[in-house]
Amino acid sequence: MTLSVVIPVYNEADNIRPLFERLVAVVNGLNFTKSELVFVNDGSTDVTMSIVKELSSNEVDVRFVDLSRNFGHQVAVTAGLDQAVGDLVVIIDADLQDPPELISEMVAKTKSGYDVVYARRIKRKGESFLKKATAKFFYRFLSRITSVDIPIDTGDFRIISRRVVEALKQMPEREKFLRGQIAWVGFDQTFVEYERDERVAGNTGYTWSKMVGFALDGITSFSNFPLRMATLAGFIMSFIAFLLMLYALYSRFILQVYEPGWTSVILSVLFIGGIQLITIGIIGEYINRISNNVRNR
Ligand code: UDP
Ligand code: MG
Repeated sequence: MTLSVVIPVYNEADNIRPLFERLVAVVNGLNFTKSELVFVNDGSTDVTMSIVKELSSNEVDVRFVDLSRNFGHQVAVTAGLDQAVGDLVVIIDADLQDPPELISEMVAKTKSGYDVVYARRIKRKGESFLKKATAKFFYRFLSRITSVDIPIDTGDFRIISRRVVEALKQMPEREKFLRGQIAWVGFDQTFVEYERDERVAGNTGYTWSKMVGFALDGITSFSNFPLRMATLAGFIMSFIAFLLMLYALYSRFILQVYEPGWTSVILSVLFIGGIQLITIGIIGEYINRISNNVRNR
C-alpha cells in the first residue's frame, strides 16, 4: 500500500516547514511501502514556492505542482489529486488547522474497508463568529436543498481510496465542490472527530468573495432547488391572484363598491403576473434537465 498527501498552499511561507516536519513524522510512523507529499502551489505571491522546492526527506517523496496563478483551493486540490499516485490519498490544509497526527486514526479506519474517512470538526478555534455562523447555516441549508448526503461540519480534510480518486477524475465539471463530489460518488464513508486548531501563521486565503463563490458552486452543482423556486412562486402567486380576482369581481358586481377601471386593471395585472411566473417555472424545469445533462457525471 502507498500513501499520498495532497497539500494546497497559498501564501503559507511560515507554515510549510512545521507542517512538513509533522507530516513526515506521522507518515513515517505508518507502514506504507511508499509515501509521497504533493504540494500544490496555488499562485502564492510570497516565498512559499521557494520553500517548497527546498523540502526533501530520505523517507518520503516530495513532489509539487506549481499553478500558473491563483485558481482557488478546490482547483488546487483537484490538481493535486490528478498527480497523486497513492492507494490512499489524504487531503489536508497547509495552515496546521487540520492536525497531521489525525491521519493515523484515519488510516486505521480505512483498514476496516472504508473508502472515505472524513474529519468532522466538533470545535473550531480561532475563527470569527461570523465565519462559524455562516458555515453552520450554509451546510445545514445545503443539506436541506440537495438529495446528496453532504456531511455537515466537515472540510476537505479526509482520506480517500484510489477508486474514489478515479471516480472524481471522471467528473468533468469545472466548478469544483469536492466535499459534495466525494459524497456524490458514494462508496462506504465514515468519519473521525477532531477539534480544529487555530491557523499557526499567516492569514486565511479564503476571502469573503471566495467563500461566496464557493457556496454558490456548492448550491448550483448539487441542487436544482433555486430553479424550482420560480415554479413554486408561480403556483402560489397564481393561487393568491385567483382569490383576489374573485374578490375584485365580487366587489364590482355584488357589493358595487369600486373605482372605475380598478377591476380590469387589477385583474389583468394578477393574471399576467401568474402566467409569467408559471412560464418561467416551465423554463426552469427545462434548464434543470439541461444542467443535469451538461454536468455529464
Ligand atoms: N488555499 C489555496 N488557494 C486559495 C486559498 C487557500 O490553495 O486561494 C489553501 C491554503 O493555503 C490552505 C487551504 O487552502 O492550505 C485552506 O485555506 P485557508 O486556511 O486560508 O482557509 P480557512 O481555513 O480560513 O477556511
Ligand atoms: Mg485554514
